[in-house]
Amino acid sequence: MGDIQMVDLLGQYHNIKDEIDAAILDVVQSSAYINGPEVKAFQAELEAFLGVKHVIPCANGTDALQIAMMSLGLQPGDEVITPNFTFISTVEVIALLGYKPILVEVDPKTFNMDAEAVRKAITPKTKVIAPVHLFGQCADMEEILAIAKEHDLYVIEDTAQAISSDYTFDDGRKAMAGTMSTFGATSFFPSKNLGCFGDGGALYTNDDELAETARQVANHGMKVRYYHEKVGINSRLDSIQAAILRVKLRRLNDYCEARRAAADRYDAWFKDIEQLETPYRDPKTTHTFHQYTLKVNGIDRFGLQKHMMDHNIPAMVYYPVPLHLQEAFENLGYKKGDFPVTESLCEEVISLPMHTELTTEQQEKVATTLIDYIKKHS
Ligand SMILES: *Cc1c(COP(=O)(O)O)cnc(C)c1O
Repeated sequence: MGDIQMVDLLGQYHNIKDEIDAAILDVVQSSAYINGPEVKAFQAELEAFLGVKHVIPCANGTDALQIAMMSLGLQPGDEVITPNFTFISTVEVIALLGYKPILVEVDPKTFNMDAEAVRKAITPKTKVIAPVHLFGQCADMEEILAIAKEHDLYVIEDTAQAISSDYTFDDGRKAMAGTMSTFGATSFFPSKNLGCFGDGGALYTNDDELAETARQVANHGMKVRYYHEKVGINSRLDSIQAAILRVKLRRLNDYCEARRAAADRYDAWFKDIEQLETPYRDPKTTHTFHQYTLKVNGIDRFGLQKHMMDHNIPAMVYYPVPLHLQEAFENLGYKKGDFPVTESLCEEVISLPMHTELTTEQQEKVATTLIDYIKKHS
């Protein structure tokens, strides 16, 4: 049995090595390193896969969020509502651009933005709702889109952890994560469900005009070379990364299937352990298990994490500190106790190894090691 890892990037590479190596070598020999045919082909293939009109490749997921925000013509002080329990990117770009992040509570079962909390957070200054599809499941888009429509707001979906998850609306309509709103923003960071061999990202939109603006923002604010109509940034996906992503996109459905099967196996081992709460499956969205995240009750989580590490099993805490208690956001004026659900999640969650090459044997070792600790410490 090989070493157990949170994500086995090397194992996945070995299984598709010939195709990846050939794709990289092609780019090297073409010398079209920036915006070459591979980038355009990947863009078209991802558009078809997602069923979205425009994919705009860029340098990483954080840039994708930033480009989306910069394309909407917001003013300093405009408010953007975003969940508290997530990675920092979403709130970071809001603050960086001079807009005001308004953090909201999440649902304790899905970990995603609580639509009721969004409704309460709306003020005359609100311009955008920015949900994050955390750990692989879509946020409550039915409600979020209804609120946005009611108040004439933009919606930017952070879909870095949920590429290819789909969402079913009450009327039966289905849509892929990131394609339901003004913009979707995703990341191809190596450990994401569709990851490249470095940094990469993309925005999605169905709006022709916004797509053009986003392309312009990502390209130094110019449509015609050396004529800069607005202040933009420089954010590109390398051709080598696009070539790698094309190979992996062809397998993305199988990869998500493998993750779901691994999640089902974990669920079966943990279902009768009362100190563990297995991941909730929201019937409105497919779960693509970017993370397999348990809630632990009544046991010392960091003690458990150390026990796993001592047995060469990684286990990670995503996320240990809520955004409202991060030093960087002290100026927002939040305090401990403001977000009870988020604060308790930050104390209870633990994520286990989850990737496409995970074997049943490896998972059994993860599960028995974890259950051993619980039996000894309760
Ligand atoms: C990974 C991630 C990002 C940022 O992606 P980068 O490519 O690392 O910039 C943004 N939001 C979420 C929820 C993420 O998980």
